[in-house]
Amino acid sequence: MITIKKELCPKWRYDLKCPYTRTPSRIVVHNTANDAPALSEITYMVNNDYEVSYHFAVDEKEAVQGLPLDRNAWASGDGHGKGNMEGIHIEICWSKSGGERFLKAERSAAALIAQLLKQYGWGIDKVTKHQDYDGKYCPHRTLDLGWQRFLDLVKKEMEDEEMLSYEQWKEYQERYEKEQAAKQVSKWAQPAVAYCKEHGLMSGDKEGTFRPQSFVTRQELAQVTMNQHKSLKGE
Ligand SMILES: [Zn+2]
Repeated sequence: MITIKKELCPKWRYDLKCPYTRTPSRIVVHNTANDAPALSEITYMVNNDYEVSYHFAVDEKEAVQGLPLDRNAWASGDGHGKGNMEGIHIEICWSKSGGERFLKAERSAAALIAQLLKQYGWGIDKVTKHQDYDGKYCPHRTLDLGWQRFLDLVKKEMEDEEMLSYEQWKEYQERYEKEQAAKQVSKWAQPAVAYCKEHGLMSGDKEGTFRPQSFVTRQELAQVTMNQHKSLKGE
């Protein structure tokens, strides 16, 4: 998951930055051709007087949103074409000098895109590049490094979103067991539990608590079996 910080363009600037409401139909990827973090890119975009705008800037730490997604942007040089009118425009930061910082920003962008694709129910085919709309060589550094490689990063993020990591699974498992352990004896089982307690049949839990709704381990079962066996033999 990537955190999205909202630094939205004030409404009185909509005429200049995002005059049209629309329904988005695609993602458009850019490189900033600059060396600044996401927050600076968005603040600069929102406050300058150029008819230039985009929805997100992403750096190695966060995604910053500057425009609402139901409004257009002026980013892909195609006038009132599908890029500007229907694209969700994402600028990847630190692309002027590249390096580790840029590669990390690219990974953040891939995570943001995976999130948006999921949100809109879109496939990877909805991820386009600025170049597709007016021929400009943008996202330049991402293209230099390989467009397919970037799409693969997005696909990887989509898969990771769907799968639990081992750590997450373990966390859920522990949480579930704790919840179960805190539950009281069900009404229907109360006579049986009382009987077992009375005759010492279920003793041997190392926690010393009965935890009626928790799972039984094989060693606990062995203890119970021995208790029963001994009691049958009159020991
Ligand atoms: Zn661009």
